[in-house]
Amino acid sequence: MTSLRSGKRRFALSGTLRERFMLRFATVAVLAVLLVAGAWVSELRSSIERTERQKLESELDILSEALTPLILQSHFSAVYSSLRSLQTGNRRWTRVVLNAPDGRQLYPLSAVPAATGDHMVPISRDIMFDGRRIATIEITSDYAPTYHAAMRQFRTIFGFMTLACVVGVAFTLVGIDRVVVRPIMLLSSAARRLSRGDYEAELPRMTRDEIGTLTYGFARMRERIHLNEERLIAARDEARHNAEVKSRFLATMSHEIRTPLNGIIPIAQLLLETDLEEPQRELVNTIVDSGHALRSVIDDILDIAKLDEGKLAIRPRPFDLSRTLGSLHAMFAVTADQRGLTLTVQIDPSVIPRVTGDEDRLRQVLLNLVGNALKFTNSGGIHVTVEPASPKPMLRFSVRDTGIGISEDDRPKVFQRFEQVDNRSNREFQGTGLGLPICKALVEAMEGAIWVESDLGIGSTFVFELPMPPSDPEALPARPAEIPNETDPEGLRVLVVDDNKVNRKIASAILSRMGHFPAVSEDAEDALDRMQMEFFDAVLMDVHMPGMDGLEATRRIRGMGGTLGETWIIGFTASAFDDDVARCREAGMNGFLAKPLARDKLRAELRRCARAMARDLPPASPRPDVPPAPGP
Ligand code: ADP
Repeated sequence: MTSLRSGKRRFALSGTLRERFMLRFATVAVLAVLLVAGAWVSELRSSIERTERQKLESELDILSEALTPLILQSHFSAVYSSLRSLQTGNRRWTRVVLNAPDGRQLYPLSAVPAATGDHMVPISRDIMFDGRRIATIEITSDYAPTYHAAMRQFRTIFGFMTLACVVGVAFTLVGIDRVVVRPIMLLSSAARRLSRGDYEAELPRMTRDEIGTLTYGFARMRERIHLNEERLIAARDEARHNAEVKSRFLATMSHEIRTPLNGIIPIAQLLLETDLEEPQRELVNTIVDSGHALRSVIDDILDIAKLDEGKLAIRPRPFDLSRTLGSLHAMFAVTADQRGLTLTVQIDPSVIPRVTGDEDRLRQVLLNLVGNALKFTNSGGIHVTVEPASPKPMLRFSVRDTGIGISEDDRPKVFQRFEQVDNRSNREFQGTGLGLPICKALVEAMEGAIWVESDLGIGSTFVFELPMPPSDPEALPARPAEIPNETDPEGLRVLVVDDNKVNRKIASAILSRMGHFPAVSEDAEDALDRMQMEFFDAVLMDVHMPGMDGLEATRRIRGMGGTLGETWIIGFTASAFDDDVARCREAGMNGFLAKPLARDKLRAELRRCARAMARDLPPASPRPDVPPAPGP
């Protein structure tokens, strides 16, 4: 049963169109037949009765005339025998009574019971002579035989009529089925298939009636939908293609920008470690700061590209919130101090610090918010708090500053891309206007919400809430303090494979400064040859190289088996999308570093390498006795 609601009226439709037509026609036909039959039978009965009465009347006329002389002459025996022979000869006359005016019964001689039956016509007539009643005759005629004969005839005719009616209804139904029901069923099946994206369903013939108009309209509508869908698909494909082109462009550009940065930042840092005079040191510091600023802009743009492509993955893992906030504090404490600002971090005692969430993304959001707070605050301080929020397991993070504040009008804009409240061309504060939109997207990707409360000239509080369920303490990653091999390893033999000379030089210089023994190869083939002749603890492998790339080289090394096949390989590329990292892992790399080379990250990777070696190589299994590889 389907029911359609239209306004306040409710229509109930049951069964298919065909069934409903059949039901209606059958009902109408049966009612019509019953009505006709009823009317016919009652008319038949009254017409037979009428005819019988007329017939009896005229018979009585004749009889009265015939009996008058006999009664006048008192020939009652003749009257008797006439009536007797008439009654015997006429079977319809069930009762004949002749009474004298004084009430004496002249015929028959015995008492006669009243006539009973469904089809009786009683008639009584005074026989008059000279205005004087000389007798009264009563005759009751039974017209049942005539009636039954007529009814037999009626039943035959009615049977034929019913048959004709059934045939007529069947013909009409077949006609309606062909002209209305079947086309509508075809249309409804075509509409169903259309909703599933099938444009090929058969349609009814285009007739000149309303169904034809409906079919024509449907066909036109289907054509248009098909055309629009094709256009949309083409537009979507083009948009996808453009997005791919944009993403490729961004990847290439980030690679191209990171490559020279890879030359600038580490070299400037190396330069800072040499003996410099104060003005020179300041200049080099400016180079390092500018390099970092440029790198953060590239990171923002890459994040936005990833968000647009839906490639920004959220990876919840157990972590220690107090440690994350501790390192956040440590990271900004010096800058805050230099600017004469206080920086405090407070976790509400009711918050269980061991939680599950994406620590990296949380750190990214907090870095952005605290960085902004420091940027836009000239006096006072920044206060970061974490407290429980409802419903559980929501946590509320607030970054409150006593900075310039944001006006009511500007508050909704700050989370929009490239929106900077201070839009003067000669801006006091640097920035891309991408930080907060990235924070918003990250928080929303982690199923949270972010907002800002602020008073112009008094300060701002950026608040975000995230679901952070307490984690199983067993699942927590080990604290660094618990890692036995905390001290930095030294004396590792590291092969740097990179087609770029500057990169090779920088990596070698940094490795040497860390106390390791670097060797270099300018392509993968050379690296493979070298590795078969010399032993290396780790390989710093550029991913993108002309000829054999770093991924293929890694696969080949893994395929060599033995100690060589297990060499610790760290991928090294300027293209830092999640996909790139995943490809490196698939190829069999152990670690991944983004260009420009950050020394702390390289150190961490080498620490992992040393830990793995300490685990995998028991003291009894000595290293191959090869001399340290020469430096670059
Ligand atoms: P930007 O890179 O310009 O800082 P953001 O998206 O991080 O980009 O911030 C957008 C704008 O929001 C900033 O330019 C600034 O006008 C305003 N804003 C952000 N944080 C603060 C804050 N703590 N105090 C005052 N204004 C802020």
